[in-house]
Amino acid sequence: KFEYAPAPESRAIVDIKPSYGLFIDGDFVDGHGKSFKTISPSTEEVLAEIAEADDADVDLAVKAARRAYTRVWSKMSGAERGKYLFRIARIIQERAREFAVLESIDNGKPIKETRDVDVPIVAAHFFYYAGWADKLSYAGYGPDPQPLGVAGQVIPWNFPLLMLAWKIAPALACGNTVVLKPAETTPLTALLFAEVCQQADLPPGVVNIVTGAGETGRAIVSHPGVDKVAFTGSTDVGRAIAKAVAGSNKRVTLELGGKAANIVFDDAPVDQAVEGIVNGIFFNQGHVCCAGSRLLVQESVAEEVLAKLKRRMKTLRVGDPLDKNTDVGAINSAEQLAKIRELSEIGEAEGAERWSPKCDLPQNGFWFPPTIFTGVSQAHRIAREEIFGPVLSVLTFRTPKEAVEKANNTPFGLSAGIWTDKGSRILWMASQLRAGVVWSNTFNKFDPASPFGGYKESGYGREGGRHGLEAYLR
Ligand code: NAD
Repeated sequence: KFEYAPAPESRAIVDIKPSYGLFIDGDFVDGHGKSFKTISPSTEEVLAEIAEADDADVDLAVKAARRAYTRVWSKMSGAERGKYLFRIARIIQERAREFAVLESIDNGKPIKETRDVDVPIVAAHFFYYAGWADKLSYAGYGPDPQPLGVAGQVIPWNFPLLMLAWKIAPALACGNTVVLKPAETTPLTALLFAEVCQQADLPPGVVNIVTGAGETGRAIVSHPGVDKVAFTGSTDVGRAIAKAVAGSNKRVTLELGGKAANIVFDDAPVDQAVEGIVNGIFFNQGHVCCAGSRLLVQESVAEEVLAKLKRRMKTLRVGDPLDKNTDVGAINSAEQLAKIRELSEIGEAEGAERWSPKCDLPQNGFWFPPTIFTGVSQAHRIAREEIFGPVLSVLTFRTPKEAVEKANNTPFGLSAGIWTDKGSRILWMASQLRAGVVWSNTFNKFDPASPFGGYKESGYGREGGRHGLEAYLR
């Protein structure tokens, strides 16, 4: 039996204040509205009281962003802006441990991931776009592309700091200023990032962080002073935002849900594929828009792959996010846990077979064991709907053509994975799959130079890479 070794000293390195205001015009200010609590999903402990920005607060933030845009940021040379972004990147590296611990406490994800994945990629993003700031004439949008103005950015809770970096780094590099709202369950690393902006001497108003829930998000995206809306979150809210901005001259990019197929052929290196399946669905508790939540395995190797997958799943350690040995952390909220439970019960009721390794889950907090469903048909809801948890639906196929048909049989199209030894098959499959990202013989690999975004109901626009600049330039 695995003994948990919590690391109390990790907790001590972060300074969580009892309450937080809004970060507007370079300072933390009290909001006009109410406040709400952010809790740690692994313990249910209340971490801090957070200001809930109302319309008047959002208006102040947008006006501050506008002033900073017209007076300072859009006038500054790209090279100068780049220096600020490099400085932010370096401060994030210096404070990496603090960010990693705080993210794990507020979000519930394992420290192994925040330390080795989230925070390093966040810094890499700022470094990458810092490099673009003085080279925008090479971005492919004409010799002298112009920024759009004030960007209103709304992000989800699954990669709180990373989604912030995806939004803020390209916007600033292109000369825009921003008003960003983190998700209501994970505001703390965005507020720590506000401190980093102060530490980097970023001119006041260039970055504004306003906390709150859906109403605050609505106020940002519909504010007439916002020129560009960038949203990452659920397809339903994405649809509401598209309606809210219809008829205005705001530019919009939407990064929404997914139901990716991870496709394993009979000539795939099986052990490597099993690692890829585990990473594809259990990384970040499956709270990943591009998670490999549908395993499509070729019939002739299905038995072998499933046996090895179950054996591997028995070794996954579920528990304290601050324990460096933890593989699967806490589910982000009670609401999300209820959704995962409900869809899993529906999966059983529809006749699929449910399996989880035996694991002791902590008493307090929100937990769900790594789970697979076999005997899943395409008609099952667990094969069609995004569960956004550590739950894998397994389907089989016989021919590559059938694999493509099944993989594409979803309203989403964010990502896909292919496991095979044949290069020609990888290229053919990649050309057939209706997905923004196709990984081969790997999964969930991210790089700031690589564009990311969806087909179909997974949204429109690209973030990352040179393509990510387009969303912030005219
Ligand atoms: P959500 O849509 O419920 O919330 C996302 C954000 O929108 C939050 O900050 C929320 O407060 C805000 N919001 C809610 N209602 C709003 C409204 N009417 N107007 C403006 N803002 C509003 O999503 P979530 O549950 O936080 O995140 C999970 C979803 O995000 C999943 O569907 C996942 O696939 C998706 N996601 C997509 C990507 C991607 O790049 N495509 C990345 C991460 C997550």
